[in-house]
Amino acid sequence: MEELLADAEDITSESDWSHHSSPQKPIRSSPEPTIEQQCSSRISRAPGARSRDSGCPVRECPFVGRKLKFHVQSEHLPRIVWDNPQPPIKEEKFGEWTEGRYQLLLFLSRALVGSERVEDLVRWAEEVLSPLVPVQSQILDQSQQQMRSLSRWMRWVDPGQFQLKPINSPSVLIHWRYQVLMGENLEPAQRLEFLHFGHAFMSNLDNVQSSVFPYVLLHSSNARTLAGGSGKEPPREVPRYT
Ligand SMILES: [Zn+2]
Repeated sequence: MEELLADAEDITSESDWSHHSSPQKPIRSSPEPTIEQQCSSRISRAPGARSRDSGCPVRECPFVGRKLKFHVQSEHLPRIVWDNPQPPIKEEKFGEWTEGRYQLLLFLSRALVGSERVEDLVRWAEEVLSPLVPVQSQILDQSQQQMRSLSRWMRWVDPGQFQLKPINSPSVLIHWRYQVLMGENLEPAQRLEFLHFGHAFMSNLDNVQSSVFPYVLLHSSNARTLAGGSGKEPPREVPRYT
């Protein structure tokens, strides 16, 4: 299953996430090491780490491996922002799905920069997060299409080709590299809300296709929770939109 979702973007170099120095610390000041320092030290001390393994940018997450995108999406991002959610969303629900992703950006804008304007979030992300995104990162075709859909939905200018650095559209912020970095800058209660964002929509069987993939068997906390097999409490609904 993981193989099916893996792509070239999962396979990154040893210097992934630690390629450049950040000119500015993340907005949440803390005596803890920066994401960058954590990734670097984790990679260097990981026993048996291979040269192309990448460390997860999330604090206290021990993951080091080649399928970083799959790991980040399944463990640290709300399913509404996965680029290949399983089961897939029905085509006639794409509008609601896209609106939900915009609402997620709006939530992040309020939480991280105290603004109702996603453009302000873009400005902050460009200054603070963009230096942490590896220079060789690319936006794959499927994500390009989803960013185009969001831009059309919001009537934002379509730059033609979306790019991570410099950020040339607010739609770029739905990319997993920015999503995980933004999630890392949230306070714990906000992060919980982030992780459950759009859960009601994404788990409504009226909105999804009957998938050929046994997604409940995925080794993700989200999927385990949805399958009721983790022994934990199911996620509390945090409806943000209808
Ligand atoms: Zn992780």
